[in-house]
Amino acid sequence: MDYLPLFFDLRGKHCLIVGGGAIATRKARLLNKAQACIHVVAPKIEQELSALVLASGGQLIDGEYHSELLQDKALVISATDIAEVNERVARECHALKLPVNVVDCPSLCSVIMPAIIDRSPLIIGVTSGGQAPVLARKIRTQLESSIPAAYGALAKLFSPFRKKIKKAFPDDDVRRRFWENTIDGSVAEKVFAGDLAGAEQELREKIDQQDVLRGGEVYLVGAGPGDPDLLTFKALRLMQKAEVVLYDRLVSEPILDMVRRDAERVYVGKKRDNHAVPQQEINQMLVDYALQGKRVLRLKGGDPFIFGRGGEEIDLLAANKVPFQVVPGITAASGCAAYSGIPLTHRDYSQSVRFITGHLKEDGDDHAWGEFVNPNQTLVFYMGLAGLSRICQKLIEHGKDPQTPAALIEKGTLPEQRIHKSTLTGLPEYVKQRKVSAPTLLIIGDVVSLHDTLNWYHPQA
Ligand code: SAH
Repeated sequence: MDYLPLFFDLRGKHCLIVGGGAIATRKARLLNKAQACIHVVAPKIEQELSALVLASGGQLIDGEYHSELLQDKALVISATDIAEVNERVARECHALKLPVNVVDCPSLCSVIMPAIIDRSPLIIGVTSGGQAPVLARKIRTQLESSIPAAYGALAKLFSPFRKKIKKAFPDDDVRRRFWENTIDGSVAEKVFAGDLAGAEQELREKIDQQDVLRGGEVYLVGAGPGDPDLLTFKALRLMQKAEVVLYDRLVSEPILDMVRRDAERVYVGKKRDNHAVPQQEINQMLVDYALQGKRVLRLKGGDPFIFGRGGEEIDLLAANKVPFQVVPGITAASGCAAYSGIPLTHRDYSQSVRFITGHLKEDGDDHAWGEFVNPNQTLVFYMGLAGLSRICQKLIEHGKDPQTPAALIEKGTLPEQRIHKSTLTGLPEYVKQRKVSAPTLLIIGDVVSLHDTLNWYHPQA
């Protein structure tokens, strides 16, 4: 993070704007909303700006900027189109450790202005640190349209009840659940419908009756193959709701960042040269946390029901009568195929697709290899990196054409994705030379040859 977002209480504080044009006016409008006392210095000051300054109780200073004006100021904004003036203002503010913002010049700023969504008392600031302001504005537009204007009213409704609620629900977790249920439930619906009196009454009743749904639950959620954009809305919603998250190696950092900030994080995956938490222990942890009344998120790579042992995890939950939900995710086969231009089925090349574990027993006899040699199908091996040579060799032994196209997709859908494409005979050697690391997915079949023409979007190493 290059910046720490903070919210600045400027009520009644003296702020200086250097510049008197349209940009200065825009900044003055914001300072005005934040109830600051605005002073402006410029040789020429626009009418609206003058009015804002006077209404705020500040001064209009007709003329050039000089350093005495910095005295007793809480914030300075330089909004002139003269680079030397902006630079001087910034330099002098930095020397005084006075927060300064130079419009459109992040390198001179000690504080930068975000794009703002104002649902006071709820305020959201979005910034790209000056690197992509258009993107930040686009996000603001999206948020503007997706956050009901009535959220401000909702926050105002709750505000006087905070103390009472704290008293009625002294336990932190229970209180949080009360808040969340209220925000998601009928009280909020009433506010959105404009029935503030009804909402207030219902809120009072809920507090008096100490109405809170207790009892833990488990969300078994597929997080997809890596790209956070491939999460489902439902996954995201539950990720924001859970109080504890159990995750493993396949869940990427940007996805974990989307889990609620204050959720307890428990890593249950394998560490290098170390053993993973045994499956039975994970199953038991899910039950234990839920029985403590927690909302537990079990976040899994890809889809929980495809080589995800999801079935075992919910088995114990069901036996203990713990409520749970399963949320499907995009499995590695779909993600890798789509991001590398390899359709898993194709009218002309492949009429079926098999998802197969590449985790072989010593003798490799755990598969009906003979069934895999039909040319009109696509084979997808999960967990196939260590056994790659054996898999290719077994298929050839059982009669698969050695020239069948085969690709190993490394870190599919992530920015580091690489595609290693060859034939059934050539792939193991090719992969050996290219220093490949997990996770990888092996796709075998004629559809792999389509990669050359269909992979225009994701340039490959
Ligand atoms: N439930 C997961 C699979 C878990 S098994 C799913 O539905 O995708 C773990 C295997 O998934 C890995 O060994 C690898 O073969 C595959 N895999 C998961 N994420 C991957 C990725 N981003 N790129 C390539 N393969 C991946």
